[in-house]
Order: sequence, then C-alpha cells, then structure tokens
Amino acid sequence: MARVVNDLTDAQWDALKAAWGGCAYCTAPAAALQKDCVQAISRGGRYTLGNVVPACGSCNASKCNAEVTGWLRRKKLDERTFLVRHYEISAELTTRFPAEPSTVD
Ligand SMILES: [Zn+2]
Repeated sequence: MARVVNDLTDAQWDALKAAWGGCAYCTAPAAALQKDCVQAISRGGRYTLGNVVPACGSCNASKCNAEVTGWLRRKKLDERTFLVRHYEISAELTTRFPAEPSTVD
C-alpha cells in the first residue's frame, strides 16, 4: 500500500513561487502566498510538486475544496492559461526535483 506523500520541500515551494511569480490563479503579486492544492485534498490531491501552486489568500479561501476548472470559470479567471502554465511549470520543476524515495523527518 502506497504511503501518502506530503513531501513538498521548502526548496520546491520557493521554486514554485518563483516560477509562478505571484498567485497562480489571479496573478496577484501577493506577499504572502499560500500553498493551494490544485486537486483538493478532499478530492484525492496531495501536497506534492505537481499539485501545489502558490495562491493569494483571497483565491485560496474562495477556491477551498472546489474543482479547479469549474471554480476558475465561475471566477472568470483564465482557465486555459492557468492549465497550460501549471502543466509547463510542473513539468519543469519535476525535472529539476526528481522524486526522492526518502522521507523528511
Ligand atoms: Zn489570487
């Protein structure tokens, strides 16, 4: 049985924030970006490099457990641009940070 992987490291988080350059959803250059799971934890998402994006407090609170594409549409945010950037940034960062089998204590 696979263990739950909640393994986003500080270095990965810093890289995510640098790659997005602000809130992943509304692009606000918020000072205090929060870790948001694109696929919510309640929907099977995890705190991993490919599933976490930086979000401003407003987007994080609004999105909550919503399904991301439907939420983006309701907020009139650019769903397509988000999905393309999310794909590109995830691909780039997972190359830079290959999955490690070890766990952080
Ligand atoms: Zn935002």
